[in-house]
Amino acid sequence: MSAGEVTVVGAGIVGVSSAAWLQRAGFEVTLVDAGPVGEGASFGNAGNISPGAVVPYTIPGFLREVPGWLLDAEGPLAVRPGYLLKVLPWILAAVKSSQTETALKTSRAMRELHRGTFDAYDALTRNTEAAALIERCGQLYVSERPHTAQGSQIAQFMREAAGVKTIILGEREIREAEPALAPIFKSGMLLPEHGRCKNPHQLVQIIAREAGRNGATILRGKVTGFRTNADRVLGILLDGEVRPVERVVIAAGAASGQLSAHLGTPLPVEAERGYHITIADAGVMPRIPVSHCDAKFVCAPMNMGLRLAGTVEFAGIDAPPNWKRAELLKEQARRMFPGVRMEKVTQWAGNRPSLPDGLPVLGAAPGFANAFFAFGNSHFGMTAGPVMGKVIAEIVAGRKPAIDITPFSATRFRGA
Ligand SMILES: Cc1cc2nc3c(=O)[nH]c(=O)nc-3n(C[C@H](O)[C@H](O)[C@H](O)COP(=O)(O)OP(=O)(O)OC[C@H]3O[C@@H](n4cnc5c(N)ncnc54)[C@H](O)[C@@H]3O)c2cc1C
Repeated sequence: MSAGEVTVVGAGIVGVSSAAWLQRAGFEVTLVDAGPVGEGASFGNAGNISPGAVVPYTIPGFLREVPGWLLDAEGPLAVRPGYLLKVLPWILAAVKSSQTETALKTSRAMRELHRGTFDAYDALTRNTEAAALIERCGQLYVSERPHTAQGSQIAQFMREAAGVKTIILGEREIREAEPALAPIFKSGMLLPEHGRCKNPHQLVQIIAREAGRNGATILRGKVTGFRTNADRVLGILLDGEVRPVERVVIAAGAASGQLSAHLGTPLPVEAERGYHITIADAGVMPRIPVSHCDAKFVCAPMNMGLRLAGTVEFAGIDAPPNWKRAELLKEQARRMFPGVRMEKVTQWAGNRPSLPDGLPVLGAAPGFANAFFAFGNSHFGMTAGPVMGKVIAEIVAGRKPAIDITPFSATRFRGA
């Protein structure tokens, strides 16, 4: 017997995972997206699957690096002129969350959310071609500076406290591990329990397709608001028409803050823009994903080519891309991979959905008995996505979630 209907807004990794897990919990699912499935941030990320990602971006000491990054026009962090004042409160909230106690709590919450990622992907992709897209191959972090790849002392402490395995590599060992890399790296760290997705877009499409095969209705349309009564969402406004819903899950990535505000819960969801270039027939390929710790991007071996993806730009969700930032990735590709062929390069920009503390919002929407939030997974959405889907399905079904969701509460920014 059906447990009832749920409409999921957003068909990125979080939305399609939510749809698949909700079906397993017995719900009939409608999946709605303003665009084609999987063409938000989930399209062009670096595909790192990182169960041991326990180091928040804002940790004690990160502020020391920020001025240098901002002053370097080619640096890993940029704020679009004219956007600084708008994003300033978010940045200040991020700085506040970098205080030691808060950062340690964030780290523990990240471990809870990320540790089950491979198991969740196994369950979602079993008996589909998507299973072959996930590989537990390890990840390599490298730095052009000595003793830097492993991060600061607190970053090391966070990994140790979480029991994350790391192997420190010197110059010679980096070259042995990744012969395609130029000999410019002085320190390295291998994370053997991490892995990758070989094609994030395809992965999302397959999970959505399977949900469709299992009876989900997949609709194209933009949700612009909600019809509500005192404590229930009665319908979504889809391209101007009211479509009745029994329950609704908001999983609309960087646009989720706009939708949560319509439900009376404004949340500081910022679009942390990143860029990628993907080089087909590059002629060189790392064996496993390689993160450049200084320049903050990942070189990912993908099934369609070599992808360099990362960096952060604050420009606002609707600002057009600044393709100069993708050009910088081309220069990096030439520096890092001698002999790389750059004839077939595509470029892309996407918005990470980010809250100032780096954690997502996951749970019931305040004030509504039948609305739920699952968004804001920032730099780690490909890792957190399948777990968030599982947790939100447990919450919608009224079961106790397998992880403690207190750190992901939608009310944690009230009064901040
Ligand atoms: C350059 C870059 C590299 C990254 N690398 C990694 C990595 O290596 N590992 C990792 O774990 N994470 C990585 N990430 C982060 C990860 O990509 C995101 O956290 C994740 O994809 C977010 O998934 P999502 O489903 O929440 O959002 P999205 O994939 O953005 O999906 C949201 C969907 O909602 C739809 N939508 C929005 N508004 C509406 C509306 N009003 N009505 C209907 N539909 C709507 C959109 O069309 C979109 O399809 C990276 C991100 C970037 C930008």
